[in-house]
Amino acid sequence: MSTSVIGFPRIGKDRELKFASEKFFKGEITADALGAVAAEIRKDNLLDQKDAGIDFISSNDFSFYDNVLDTAVLFNVIPGRYKALGLSGLETYFAMARGYQGEAGNVKALAMKKWFNTNYHYLVPEIDDDTEIKLTGTKPFDEYKEAAGLGVKTKTAIVGPFTFLKLAKYTGSKGACVFASALAEEYVKLVKGLADLGASWIEFDEPYLVHDLTEEDIILFKSLYEKILSSKAGLKVLLQTYFGDIRDIYTEVCSLGFDGIGLDFVEGKETLNLVKKHSFPKDKLLFAGVVNGKNIWRNNYENTLKLVGEIASATGDVDNIIVGTSCSLLHVPYTLESETKLTDDYRKHFAFAEEKLVELTVIDKLVKNPEKAVLDSNKALFTERINSCDEKVQERVRNIKDSDYTRLPAFAEREKIQHERFNLPLFPTTTIGSFPQTADVRKNRQDFRKGLISEAQYDEFNKKKIADCIKLQEEIGLDVLVHGEFERNDMVEYFGEHLSGYLFTEKAWVQSYGTRCVKPPVIWGDVSRKESITVKWSKFAASCTDKEVKGMLTGPVTILNWSFPREDISVKESTLQIALAIRDEVLDLEANGINIIQIDEAALREKLPLRKSDWYSEYLDWAIPAFRLVASGVKPETQIHTHMCYSEFTDIIPAIDAMDADVITFEASRSDLQILDSLKENNFKTEVGPGVYDIHSPRVPSVEEIVSALGKMRSRIEDKKLWVNPDCGLKTRGEEETVKSLKNLVKAAAELRA
Ligand code: GLN
Ligand code: ZN
Repeated sequence: MSTSVIGFPRIGKDRELKFASEKFFKGEITADALGAVAAEIRKDNLLDQKDAGIDFISSNDFSFYDNVLDTAVLFNVIPGRYKALGLSGLETYFAMARGYQGEAGNVKALAMKKWFNTNYHYLVPEIDDDTEIKLTGTKPFDEYKEAAGLGVKTKTAIVGPFTFLKLAKYTGSKGACVFASALAEEYVKLVKGLADLGASWIEFDEPYLVHDLTEEDIILFKSLYEKILSSKAGLKVLLQTYFGDIRDIYTEVCSLGFDGIGLDFVEGKETLNLVKKHSFPKDKLLFAGVVNGKNIWRNNYENTLKLVGEIASATGDVDNIIVGTSCSLLHVPYTLESETKLTDDYRKHFAFAEEKLVELTVIDKLVKNPEKAVLDSNKALFTERINSCDEKVQERVRNIKDSDYTRLPAFAEREKIQHERFNLPLFPTTTIGSFPQTADVRKNRQDFRKGLISEAQYDEFNKKKIADCIKLQEEIGLDVLVHGEFERNDMVEYFGEHLSGYLFTEKAWVQSYGTRCVKPPVIWGDVSRKESITVKWSKFAASCTDKEVKGMLTGPVTILNWSFPREDISVKESTLQIALAIRDEVLDLEANGINIIQIDEAALREKLPLRKSDWYSEYLDWAIPAFRLVASGVKPETQIHTHMCYSEFTDIIPAIDAMDADVITFEASRSDLQILDSLKENNFKTEVGPGVYDIHSPRVPSVEEIVSALGKMRSRIEDKKLWVNPDCGLKTRGEEETVKSLKNLVKAAAELRA
């Protein structure tokens, strides 16, 4: 046996790459200086893995922005509009990643999408009919040589051709199959080039294989790899899969000429069964993903040894098994060493990337020699966890009744009651919650955090901001107002901080996309509401105006999806605990005179399983009820809003309607009108506010533009159900453009009414 790691975090322990890149974008440092920071990170990563004793270490897992983009650029999949800028290689790369606006021209970035079921985002390669696929880059070679120079012999990790073709967007008339043979040929050149350098292994990452595959997919996969594997040039080829099992193609994969196959035994529900049922080819190495590459918890050695034992008895040979991570460690923070405040009682339960390296080598040793002392101390971690249980919370969850998931009366009756009560104009205007988080707003929070100002000073500043924000909204002429969210750093962290059961880290950053990292809070124990969270602010805001002010909360599914979840209880159970806590806050707001309450579920779609067949049974069947539990206790005349960020929910419209909110706002301005069509087709009952302009850009939309967007919406949505709003919160926008945009929005609604 030996050990393998699929990939390592690359943003730097102190997010060095983020800060250096941002300086480079502003022209404050040169490309060489940025390159030096990157080289230092790669070196640290390689040596850390080597020193830990890992046998199979990847190179080419580094990226300045994203690995899929790296692969596109490597094979010359660079749309003409970027080439036309005539920039340097690195600048062209960043233009594709971030868009470009300057002397050379003005182009938008490539589209960005969620990487499978993670919170990482990749750039979508764009292939048009003129794309000439050609190995023009040298990154994998350079990084192989660089690692070799440091004394680390690596496997070269690269996004495989199948996943690459499946994730690409085809803007012309030619599809994936047309490009398959050319792409395979170029991968062959890559293989040969690495062999010439004396490399031993290449790792093709093919996570797309864990989806439900069609007949054509399987044909495409085989055609690509038959070609590549027939010209290996002495290089060994590892097919690496992750994020699930490969039930649709397992036997085909086993019969191809790979030298190693990487399978995910953590997320792959069927992986062990597949190996048991069909065994595993004797002439290949099995890279067994047994250490979770996504969670932050210690591995349970006893369970893992049992798993490895079962794999070995199915394959008949323990020496053919390499123990590895279930996916790239990109999805976990670097190291616990950076956490200075976590006491040992907590710390001993965690394993970030570096600690997972140690676990891999320990597991490798334990397989040969199951040392009792090591196993016993590991076992203790899973039986004792301080302060994690709260009997009262658990009992509350046990006592949830079916009727608690249902709001009464039914929607149609509530809609009537609410229309009479609020008497809002047709096409009511509102915003999604946050207003621009200007420097003074952030400073106020930071100063309070650092103890530089008192709570009274902090509150006073926020109240002034809220009062101004309300006044501004009244001047603009919006119908339903918000308090502006000046007290919030982040829509999940803020709630985590006010709930018991949460832990916070100092540097547990995880890359979300490019230079953007997130620091998810950790659900440690049973979750409950310690005190009222938002009531003070909403109540104050409501006191500043005669108009309705929406209370603003984050929903349980989003809180869960943007936290590191527990594993000692199910995610469903955790979500229900959070739902009850937020339900308490909803009722508290209502009791304090807040008549409209928005419960954001920005990340509802995030954890949707990769296989459609699992969507309901494994996720929506509890996620949607969890939302309903939050809202079901309010009076019929209280209006519940929700908000979702990605409009890619055309395929789950019935589930969204089943949330049984009164109003839903969502992002629609950037996507086509497909979603509106499916709302109509599905007879969507909930009132809707599809965003009329894109808040991700500083552009001010004109009145005509908004009127025209609304016109399209009216052809699919009944007038009495249509709300008018931007597509997301305004916190990242400047004040000036926000005011102009909202004024135009209000004018557009007025035009429609007239
Ligand atoms: N209410 C939040 C805001 O306006 C919603 C943010 C989001 O959807 N990402 O900022
Ligand atoms: Zn949003």
